[in-house]
Amino acid sequence: MMTFHVWFFPFFHFHPFFMLVSLFLYFLPAFLARNKSNFTAVLLVDLFLGWTFIGWIVALIMALSSDPPRQIAAPMPSAAPPPQPAATTFFCTACGKPCVVNARFCSSCGAALPATQR
Ligand SMILES: [Zn+2]
Repeated sequence: MMTFHVWFFPFFHFHPFFMLVSLFLYFLPAFLARNKSNFTAVLLVDLFLGWTFIGWIVALIMALSSDPPRQIAAPMPSAAPPPQPAATTFFCTACGKPCVVNARFCSSCGAALPATQR
């Protein structure tokens, strides 16, 4: 009976399901960072240092804490060149006051606005 356990024990550890779970846990930081800007860095740290517990924690922290600064920095360039003020208003042909482009009637005098101005 004892020899059976000694023989069986390694095979239990290398069961495909157990290896799959271990592999998923090992690459969990890279999996969490798959859509992030530093995915390559997280993957490399996870791959080469993940076998050390500290390296795996570092990769996990990198995966979880990397994106917020990028999201704050990203809207800045895109918010800079919007020609919104000039495009959203035009002047009413009846009263000459500025109106919203998509409005069907002038908000000042109530005149019907031409549909071509959209
Ligand atoms: Zn008007």
